[in-house]
Amino acid sequence: MNAETSIENRLDAFRQRWQGKVGKMLIGGEWREAESGETFSTEDPSTGEKLADVASAGDADVDAAVAAARKAFDGPWRKVKPDERAKLINRLADLIEANADELALTETLDVGRPIQFSRIADVGGAISQLRYQAGWATKLTGDTTEISAPGEWLSYTLREPVGVCGQIVPWNFPLAMAAGKIGPALAAGCTVVLKPAEQTPLSTILLAELALEAGFPEGVINVITGYGRTAGASLAAHLDVDKVAFTGSTQTGKAIIDASKTNFKRVSLELGGKSPTFIFADADLKKAIPAAAMSIFFNAGQVCAAGSRLFVAEEVADQVLEGIAGMARMLPVGRTLDPSTVIGPLVSELQLERVTGYIESGRKEGATVLVGGGRKGDGPGWFVEPTVLVDTEASMQVRREEIFGPVLCATRFTDADDADRLGALGNETQFGLAANIWTRDISMAHKLARRLKAGSIRVNGAGGVDPALPLGGFKASGWGRENGRAGVEAYTELKAVSVALD
Ligand code: NAD
Repeated sequence: MNAETSIENRLDAFRQRWQGKVGKMLIGGEWREAESGETFSTEDPSTGEKLADVASAGDADVDAAVAAARKAFDGPWRKVKPDERAKLINRLADLIEANADELALTETLDVGRPIQFSRIADVGGAISQLRYQAGWATKLTGDTTEISAPGEWLSYTLREPVGVCGQIVPWNFPLAMAAGKIGPALAAGCTVVLKPAEQTPLSTILLAELALEAGFPEGVINVITGYGRTAGASLAAHLDVDKVAFTGSTQTGKAIIDASKTNFKRVSLELGGKSPTFIFADADLKKAIPAAAMSIFFNAGQVCAAGSRLFVAEEVADQVLEGIAGMARMLPVGRTLDPSTVIGPLVSELQLERVTGYIESGRKEGATVLVGGGRKGDGPGWFVEPTVLVDTEASMQVRREEIFGPVLCATRFTDADDADRLGALGNETQFGLAANIWTRDISMAHKLARRLKAGSIRVNGAGGVDPALPLGGFKASGWGRENGRAGVEAYTELKAVSVALD
């Protein structure tokens, strides 16, 4: 069977699964439509064609999902031992592996991820998250302490699951992010109500099917589909939700904080970014140039940690900018099912308008377009040319705000030995998610890394999310950390117990 036939067969299977049907929600182990009967549709951003109709949850559905999660938390899930929880999470990872083709195609069609990446970034990302998080189920412990009154008191701490968790994710990496949300929650012994973004609900519905097959007790994993302003807001404000874990825009993050006040629920927020890349004159440019380009062009710039601001040393600025511009011209932009495509579309027409609007505002404020600068083609499909803006100033909207598209804002620097000044440049926006540093001067790399207010910093390298490393932001980029020990501990409450010995 050649690759083309294989894709055709997979497309047929996709159509048979979704066309003419309503994607249902998993609530308390049952597949349900919305109580109101309302639905919404999801489209292929490459073509604008409708892919499927999906249930649109309202308050009643959120209530039902939270009640199911509460019942499971207070009942059967409590009795499942940590090693059994680990086994279930690993079984879900096995099933994702076994269904990798279908999941990858679904993500390519629903999100607009080029087919050559969806297997690695989405399916691979989800599997590595679950396998890593499964390990924590058997390793979360409290401490013993006798520091305050040795011999008089024996004190210890318990890490208990925080309870019912509402988890809300965006559209850029739905499957991997859903896995990154449910993995630590389940490992810690919580139950979840997960809501994917309205633009990309399909892979999460498939994930819910696999969770049932893996054998999770009913109500432990619930999936509701719906709009943010209705289903998402209702989940965030629900009085019986103990924690909300949210990934999305900074603006929605503020609404989540407001909604959480109803019952002081725990909140973790992974929000927007405007991350800097620094390239010094002594950097290995053969590595730094393609890495800086892909840091902003991969996934058409729809990556929270995208390197969207470039600070490049004057001595190598022409060479670096020409190198990045060359890649922008050369990278194949197009339909996601074409195996040679590197840059796919933006997720929606609305996003296309936002991103092209930002490019226009950059032009008006005095930036120069070195390459790209607008929509690619006139549809169907929401494609934007990989774009580099030079002569950008800190005051410009394009330098301050998250564009979430393939648009790099470049600036030259001369004072290469002044870590304070470079740190201030990196910290000039309200965000603080990530940063990249390219230099052979290791002292400068360490000095700058210390000055930057950013949750993740890479020196002389690039790469995706590592579930073992804490992920999160300073300032307006979020609250708390996901992944690593901190990420799973964020799904626990810490309790101190003291026993008098006399
Ligand atoms: P968004 O905030 O519009 O939507 C994200 C999710 O929140 C969706 O599921 C949406 O339905 C829901 N939502 C919207 N309004 C809501 C409300 N009032 N109450 C509750 N839920 C609501 O974000 P987006 O545009 O879909 O995603 C892009 C943003 O996500 C970017 O800002 C990006 O930087 C950020 N992001 C951050 C990370 C990270 O790890 N820090 C990762 C990926 C994306």
